[in-house]
Amino acid sequence: MAQDGIYDIFVIGGGINGCGIARDAAGRGYSVCLAEMNDLASGTSSASTKLIHGGLRYLEYYEFRLVREALMEREVLWAAAPHIIWPLRFVLPHHAGLRPAWLLRLGLFLYDHIGGRRKLPATRTLDMTRDAAARPLKSLYTRAFEYSDCWVNDARLVALNARDAADRGALIRTRSKVTAARRDADGWTLQVEDTLTGAVETVRARLVVNAAGPWVDEVLTGVAGLKTAHNVRLVQGSHIVVRKKFDDPRAYFFQNTDGRIIFAIPYEQEFTLIGTTDQDYHGDPAKVAITAAETDYLCAAASEYFAAPVQRADVVWSYSGVRPLYDDGASKAQEATRDYVLKSDAPEGLAPLMNIFGGKITTYRRLAEHMLEKIEEKLGARGKPWTATGTLPGGDFPADGFAAQLQRLKADYPFLEPRHAYRLVRLYGTRAWVLLGTAAASADLGQHFGWDLYAAEVRYLIAQEWAMTAQDVLWRRTKIGLHVTDAQAEALETFMAQTVQRPSQ
Ligand SMILES: Cc1cc2nc3c(=O)[nH]c(=O)nc-3n(C[C@H](O)[C@H](O)[C@H](O)COP(=O)(O)OP(=O)(O)OC[C@H]3O[C@@H](n4cnc5c(N)ncnc54)[C@H](O)[C@@H]3O)c2cc1C
Repeated sequence: MAQDGIYDIFVIGGGINGCGIARDAAGRGYSVCLAEMNDLASGTSSASTKLIHGGLRYLEYYEFRLVREALMEREVLWAAAPHIIWPLRFVLPHHAGLRPAWLLRLGLFLYDHIGGRRKLPATRTLDMTRDAAARPLKSLYTRAFEYSDCWVNDARLVALNARDAADRGALIRTRSKVTAARRDADGWTLQVEDTLTGAVETVRARLVVNAAGPWVDEVLTGVAGLKTAHNVRLVQGSHIVVRKKFDDPRAYFFQNTDGRIIFAIPYEQEFTLIGTTDQDYHGDPAKVAITAAETDYLCAAASEYFAAPVQRADVVWSYSGVRPLYDDGASKAQEATRDYVLKSDAPEGLAPLMNIFGGKITTYRRLAEHMLEKIEEKLGARGKPWTATGTLPGGDFPADGFAAQLQRLKADYPFLEPRHAYRLVRLYGTRAWVLLGTAAASADLGQHFGWDLYAAEVRYLIAQEWAMTAQDVLWRRTKIGLHVTDAQAEALETFMAQTVQRPSQ
């Protein structure tokens, strides 16, 4: 809660970085308000490849600091949220004429050894004349390497950070756009517009964190009215989703002839996720959408490897996002640094503004810790760093305890279809019990909206996770959008419009 009507910290942006910082800061005892102009994770943070990874490719650009920090985060984040984060093995076929086997082996040796790997299994070499991983591929590959990284449900990671921040006292406001920010010696005065009603409110804070992702420069110049250099390089990345191309639980890492790489990853049980692209973007980040050329590129790159080609007509869904990379002047988009840069703007006698450029989902927790170090310099220290061992909502069970949780949920709610029980534990972990409450039959879960979505889950998402529209539920809190008809989505929209109450300001 703000004391004397002034928050310690005001965070602009409800992506992974803003929510991660709000959570860390609230947990240390600062009063925090976060404003997100749309839905949580509606920007880049729901459009990633969804990997908690060191970034094998970044070793080629000598990004050792970033890779090491990211590798170390894999097991920390897995332990914090084992429902939405889990280990994934990747198969990297050796492709004649591309990177030589010795180079791949060297990269994977570093990958295995520089990042504090304890639980994740090490790299091994596969004989592709015998291994099941060769089955869906063309018969060109005799050798491959199999290594570890982790999978993350990116949009839910954001929502859970926001939930935890709120549980620790932060005020999280969605559909709240910061339209102006002015400072004096005592702090900031921010204009926050409710994007649904148009109502504008004034909020005071001692320090502002600019976590606006692709909009970071716009917040600096347009919102805060500062004269500043151009800082971010916007790089578009798109993914396609096709019906399952393979049954193997492992993902594939394919090298392309242009030097880039793509992943083909098992997705939502019935699909394969293929991506990503890398191209400079100059438009409005809110309007980014996959281009026909990107779809063709991804189909062609995957078809180089899969025996059954991937065609445009196979694409059931696609999404696109904009990486807000720190502009280091690299010539190609794919070479621009993936590391983050934190810059404080705190002229003598004026309240501080802390800006974030770049960053990965994988490094959000460490980024938040580094940001808190800078905040402490300005506001004075409160609590100690704590997020390395704190669990996220629903993640309070052992990292390898998913199967046991699923067993327990099935025993407590025997009426749930196996697929439904699995989905609930994957999305909500131990909070699945809160969501289901005293239900003893499907009928107790309320209105059915298609697939296995019932009113009980929607009400939970409205009450606990700031869901306000059918889009929020179907594409960010869940991926049930892949399964429902337009009519079912409309029924959900009607239900939500009747159920959502705008929280009083
Ligand atoms: C194609 C692609 C693949 C990727 N794959 C991976 C991966 O596999 N692993 C990984 O670790 N990272 C990955 N990343 C990187 C990662 O997704 C981003 O670094 C991260 O999501 C950036 O988060 P953010 O919070 O900085 O930005 P965002 O998520 O964009 O959040 C910024 C938020 O600020 C809000 N905002 C802006 N202006 C205002 C305002 N005036 N008032 C209120 N709110 C405002 C926006 O609405 C937005 O929600 C990928 C990125 C892309 C594009």
